Amino acid sequence: MTATQQAEKRTDATGAPRHLLAIDDLGPEGIGEVMRLTDSFVEVSRRPIPKVPALRGKTVASLFFEDSTRTRLSFETAARRLSADVMTFSAGSSSLSKGESLRDTVLTVEAMGVDAMVVRHSAAGVPTQVAGWVRGASVVNAGDGWHEHPTQALLDCYTIGRRKGGLEGLRIAIVGDVRHSRVARSCVTAFAGLGAHVTLVSPPTLLPASLAGWPVEVSHDFDSVLPKLDVVYLLRLQKERMTEALLPSLREYTATYGLTRRRAELLAPGAIVMHPGPVNRGVEVAAEVVDMDVSAVTEQVANGVAVRMAVLYLLLGSGVDLASA
Ligand code: ASP
Repeated sequence: MTATQQAEKRTDATGAPRHLLAIDDLGPEGIGEVMRLTDSFVEVSRRPIPKVPALRGKTVASLFFEDSTRTRLSFETAARRLSADVMTFSAGSSSLSKGESLRDTVLTVEAMGVDAMVVRHSAAGVPTQVAGWVRGASVVNAGDGWHEHPTQALLDCYTIGRRKGGLEGLRIAIVGDVRHSRVARSCVTAFAGLGAHVTLVSPPTLLPASLAGWPVEVSHDFDSVLPKLDVVYLLRLQKERMTEALLPSLREYTATYGLTRRRAELLAPGAIVMHPGPVNRGVEVAAEVVDMDVSAVTEQVANGVAVRMAVLYLLLGSGVDLASA
């Protein structure tokens, strides 16, 4: 399939997005639409029975070829709250170990009658490949290698919007292992697209080889940036993707780039601390800071379910009136 054919398959006949592979599939307007839908699903999540029939009769498959706790549970919860059926696939116990190819695995799952596939893989580009293979299903990228993690960025935009009233003009620092982080790539595009000023705070060895085209500033001095920030977004060191020694020692990393208790005291009033999880307490952030009021980590997780409901509804729910759902 040519790149143009592939791009055409990203929307359905009405021009609505068919897949969510990267934040650019939505653009600022699409992000705005997800944010508005999320408000409705947050309201649903607060009901005694947090469930609507919007996707009754649809089937969502979660295909995780890489470990996950929150993203997988969040997508599966979101699909169930929309009354979709959920099919769960685990790479470790599948016929991949018998030599079946990824393409055959995907087509086998689709042949069972699947409307959406939520795909995570350690290799960048796999969800896009899957979108090229499937005949009718929508594909959602749940994190691919160093590339993108669009629903993480969406739930982060929503969380910041709830706490700060919007992203326009905010000063946000993304701190830590930017180089190996798919979260950073999605968040930079989303945050900057919504008008925030983004600064990457990272040791030179943990920045991408080129930042050409990234709408960011760069700093290696966390202490000087910190007091001016509205949002401090910390990243985990992605040890599973580091093939060489990039840091002198963990202790030195924490001393220079960790959000220690002392640094948390330098935060401006109203500033918030975020992290996509899993958190390595005591490394990128002090254990007690995660539990302080400045931390939005638990809200990020809670909002993730409603944001993923919004994404699944946007991709699969055309024709279903949410007001009557
Ligand atoms: N959970 C996020 C991801 O899958 C962040 C992380 O693992 O550090 O990319």
